[in-house]
Formats: sequence, C-alpha cells, structure tokens
Amino acid sequence: MAECLFCRIASRELSSDLVFEDEQLVAIRDINPVAPVHVLLIPKRHVGSLAEVAEGDAGLLGHLQLVASRLARELGLDSYRVVNNCGAAAGQSVFHLHYHLLGGREFRWPPG
Ligand code: AMP
Ligand code: ZN
Repeated sequence: MAECLFCRIASRELSSDLVFEDEQLVAIRDINPVAPVHVLLIPKRHVGSLAEVAEGDAGLLGHLQLVASRLARELGLDSYRVVNNCGAAAGQSVFHLHYHLLGGREFRWPPG
C-alpha cells in the first residue's frame, strides 16, 4: 500500500534503523522505544492487523516468531516480551501487522 508507513519502511523507501532483513520481513528499532531493546518485526507484505490474517498466513506468522526468538538471543535477552497490539483499543497505531520485541528491563503483569 503506497501510503502505508510500514510498507514504505519495509520496502526501504523510507529509512529506518534496520536490525535484520530477509525475504519476508524487516526488523527495525522503534523510533520511540519503551524499553532498552525495542525492535519491530514487520512483514514486507501488507496485512492490516492480526485480525486480518488467514490460514495461508501461518508460515509468515511462524516465521515472525522464529525471527523474534533468534533476534532476542542475538541481542542478549534472556527475558523479553513479544507483543502484538491488535486494534485501536489495544493500542495499535500503525495498521500494518507488526510484533514488538521488548527487553532489557522488568515488565509488569497484567499489562496496562
Ligand atoms: P503500535 O502502536 O502497536 O501500532 O506500534 C507502532 C509502533 O511504531 C510504535 O511503537 C511507534 O513508536 C513505532 N513507529 C512509528 N513510526 C515509526 C518509524 N518511522 N520508525 C520506527 N518506528 C516507528
Ligand atoms: Zn502496509
């Protein structure tokens, strides 16, 4: 989608602090980090949110979590959170599917 912020970042049209890239996704540093490590995992293909995925997206969803696990290990995190905000009331502000990888501090439960 031409006007979607994360499509433009994932296609490298807009610059970002890139941590990792492969054929399916990019991982970038969040511009407004809420933890010492705050990486966004963004699929290159536009999907609006987790509510919009279909059976055919199982491979992509698994890949996102595998890369999150590998990046966490490479970034030296032994405790971390992988978060998806789905829908405005849950805190989603960019309507292109993404996971937050958060680490480097303690987290409370339940989340706010
Ligand atoms: P969410 O609120 O779950 O949709 O997450 C969107 C995230 O994107 C927020 O944590 C923002 O700080 C982050 N963000 C917005 N614009 C950019 C950008 N240009 N580069 C990196 N992160 C961004
Ligand atoms: Zn998009």
